Amino acid sequence: MLFLLTNDDGVDSPGLEHLALGLSVHGEVCVVAPERERSAAGHSITMHKPIRVRYKGERGERIRVWETSGSPADCVVVGVFDLLPRKPDLVVSGINLGPNLGDDLTYSGTVSGALEGFLCDVSALAISLTTFENPNWEVASQIATEIVRATMNLHSMVLLNVNVPNCTLDQIRGFSLTRLGRRRYRSRLTRRTDPFGRPYYWIGGILEEKEPEPGTDGWAIENNLVSITPITLDLTDYEGLKSLEPLRQELEELFSRR
Ligand code: MN
Repeated sequence: MLFLLTNDDGVDSPGLEHLALGLSVHGEVCVVAPERERSAAGHSITMHKPIRVRYKGERGERIRVWETSGSPADCVVVGVFDLLPRKPDLVVSGINLGPNLGDDLTYSGTVSGALEGFLCDVSALAISLTTFENPNWEVASQIATEIVRATMNLHSMVLLNVNVPNCTLDQIRGFSLTRLGRRRYRSRLTRRTDPFGRPYYWIGGILEEKEPEPGTDGWAIENNLVSITPITLDLTDYEGLKSLEPLRQELEELFSRR
């Protein structure tokens, strides 16, 4: 088994290290990760300047580590098409410090690392630990490793977004297949003035306290369940394909009257 690991917290983050150690039991691990934190980098790629890569060495017998100047998506592309000895069996992105739930997914560098793996025709997992304080990496890594092992038995392509609640193994109540929930923020933008009288901004608000809907990823986490959401790259709104038919007809009519 050959695993390509990346993340958006940077190559030296403990979440990535724990994941690499856990997966090295099941195969060869190649870590290709950003040299600095790229959280909220989304699915960005570097196109207008070179991507630099530095080999950081081996960690034990089965883990090799590279860092790059690029985004998580860049790391996956460079790993798959150049650094790795062959196409990996799985791309795993994480373990992220902090949740990647619901509406936040499009911002996520962690999830985008997995998306890029899937675009390279490799099954991919994004794994996040839903806390910013006192992370229980051992538990998250153990669960991530089990999910990876089970995924490898599927024999079909998957793209999964996994969130692990931050608790002890005994407190985890099980695994739940979920859909993405809503995640809305208030006070999303803060405007301040710098010492020279010019305005500057901070993005990032406070999460609205709402009961998460049952069956969503956020609901699973609140109930101490590991959330597994199968995701897809297809952003098409299939309901809209039907409901927007009047719009198409109106445009058609206007066009024919010219
Ligand atoms: Mn992050």
